[in-house]
Amino acid sequence: MATSAPASITIPLQIDSVVKRFGEVIAVDGISLEVHERACLGLLGPNGAGKSTLIRSIVGRVRPDSGSVRVFGHPASSPAARQELGWVPQELALYPLLTGRENLDAFGRYQGLRGKALREAIQWCLEWASLSDRADSVVKTLSGGMRRRLNMAAGMIHRPRLVLLDEPTVGVDPQSRNRIFEMVEALRAEGTTVIYTTHYMEEAERLCDSIAIVDHGRIIAQGTKDELVAQSFGSRSDVLMRLDAAAPNAAAWTASRGGTLQDGVAHFPVDRPSDIASLLDAAARDGLNVIDLVLRRPNLESVFLQLTGRDLRQ
Ligand code: ADP
Ligand code: MG
Repeated sequence: MATSAPASITIPLQIDSVVKRFGEVIAVDGISLEVHERACLGLLGPNGAGKSTLIRSIVGRVRPDSGSVRVFGHPASSPAARQELGWVPQELALYPLLTGRENLDAFGRYQGLRGKALREAIQWCLEWASLSDRADSVVKTLSGGMRRRLNMAAGMIHRPRLVLLDEPTVGVDPQSRNRIFEMVEALRAEGTTVIYTTHYMEEAERLCDSIAIVDHGRIIAQGTKDELVAQSFGSRSDVLMRLDAAAPNAAAWTASRGGTLQDGVAHFPVDRPSDIASLLDAAARDGLNVIDLVLRRPNLESVFLQLTGRDLRQ
């Protein structure tokens, strides 16, 4: 009779209360997380939030001061965990004087691949990264986006079940950025579990089904985009109403209706889109000329601002 594995073995990643200090700096300040199979978790936070340090604790490059990390039930940095993990670091790690194929060959050998298995893995990587036609070009002659894709492929040569992508689109052109999104989507379609760090909220929104917002080494909120927006704002949206600059009483009028005026645009929080009608009626009645109007649902950027008082890109 087959015995089933302990439940924890099927969980790709379990992080329990990880703390990492560098001198006075607390880079990771007590993070706990669980990532389930086939999930794509986004770690969204500004530069210096501690994302890379957390990722490096998962791959065993950083030893936490306290707390534990388990990869499919195995302790971080154990050979069994390493086998399951693919890590694409934020900085390129390639041999510039070797070709793409030679790089993949070298990375495959580190992972213990040989012969037919290695050849097939290289083939898969080149196709996945759309680099088959440049496989025999020396790395230093490739564009930044191609190097980035090759770097991703190098981290994937042993076809791990859990993949950690650390800001994979920083410094690449828009076309390569789209290719990278497709590469992530292809991994997900195969059932790979992905952790994706970024400071671009559009990327987290597009690629990830759950997002952990990281700030000062802590997870300050977690959920789907809709859940995060609802946690911070409930059903509230913003109406942005541009008023005729000539209206002398615009600021007082806006304030009297619970809004704020910035650069000629009145911002009103509303609970229902139908609240727009009464605002428009009031403006007409009070002789204010409305130039244009938008209803804006808060996004992850607004959630970050609401939670921290800062801009994600600051
Ligand atoms: P992120 O990836 O979110 O930008 P990091 O994990 O790289 O954040 O950095 C978190 C904090 O830890 C920063 O204040 C950074 O300066 C500091 N830090 C990271 N690595 C080191 C290190 N090796 N030595 C000293 N400080 C570090
Ligand atoms: Mg980083």
